[in-house]
Amino acid sequence: MNNLKSIFSINSSSSPFIIAGPCSAESEIQVIKTAKAIEKCKKVKIFRAGIWKPRTSPSSFEGVGKVGLRWLERVKKETQLFTAVEAAIPDHIETCLKYKKAVDIIWIGARTTANPFSVQSIADTLKGVDIPVMIKNPVNPDIGLWSGAVERLMKAGIKQLALIHRGFSPFVKTNMRNIPKWELAIELRSRFPELPIINDPSHISGNKKYIHEIAQKALNLNFNGLMIETHNNPSKALSDAHQQLTPDELIELIKNLKFRKQNSENQEFSDSLEQYREQIDSIDFQLLELLSKRMSIIENIGRYKLENNVTIFQLKRWLDIVKTRKEFGKLLNLDEIFIKKIIQRVHKESIRKQAEIMNNKNIS
Ligand code: PEP
Ligand code: MN
Repeated sequence: MNNLKSIFSINSSSSPFIIAGPCSAESEIQVIKTAKAIEKCKKVKIFRAGIWKPRTSPSSFEGVGKVGLRWLERVKKETQLFTAVEAAIPDHIETCLKYKKAVDIIWIGARTTANPFSVQSIADTLKGVDIPVMIKNPVNPDIGLWSGAVERLMKAGIKQLALIHRGFSPFVKTNMRNIPKWELAIELRSRFPELPIINDPSHISGNKKYIHEIAQKALNLNFNGLMIETHNNPSKALSDAHQQLTPDELIELIKNLKFRKQNSENQEFSDSLEQYREQIDSIDFQLLELLSKRMSIIENIGRYKLENNVTIFQLKRWLDIVKTRKEFGKLLNLDEIFIKKIIQRVHKESIRKQAEIMNNKNIS
């Protein structure tokens, strides 16, 4: 039997390890079948299953409730796996603690981490209790909320903590369900270097076709583990059906992932380089997202000017834009000429877009 304490240490020999299991526990057969099938893969150390599900709509499946804990008790009895359950309110925590033989680890979900009152009430309920807790990032990209949650749990005396990076809700629709924003995960890891960080490619992807790509990226960035939703029959799953793998798919995925060696000097160099590159990639994509937002506002302005018969270019406004952007750039240590060039280029594109709107209107 593995030692749970050692799994939760960043220097663990089991690192990186896998947490797998269904989004939701749905029936005893589903839970036991899935657990027994994934146990065959030795990298899987922890079985996850949602018992209480935080769903956006109240008419969605909201979990089986505490009857599911009996099924997890069986998982623990009949396999070598540890078990993990999401808890969102003190009552969930108290129930998990009551069913000691069912739950080894509690995790705090993304919607809960976003609410300091909820996190505090969980921390208060856990005061003095020795149980490992994993904290997902909040749904919104606010690193303060995530680190605040970690601090609340630390203050409550929780010794075994881990972070879970599950991505952040996008502003605009993207092909992934949640944007990874790797730089935030890296930032949190540098604030709490002693805590293991686990990546959840299932909730980032939202679709099983991206899971390998995201999981590999996380391994390249030296994450300590992966949490991968796995269901014995994903097409019939009551929640998150598109992103769940079958146990065989999970085993295949793990076979195809490159688990990299730690501790070699070269490895350390390429890991750091990779981390820098990931940060740059993520920032570039954010710049593009912001540019796209700016351009859609420009389109609205173009239509508004057209309706009010106003010219596209107004000198006073343009001079003001250049002046304020240069001043702000200076505060941020950015080169003046560089800022001027960027603003000129962005402005040129904005004028072109507005002209396009006017021309189209004139034609029609
Ligand atoms: C889950 O793990 O099934 C879940 C609800 O995740 P999140 O809190 O990341 O949305
Ligand atoms: Mn899920």
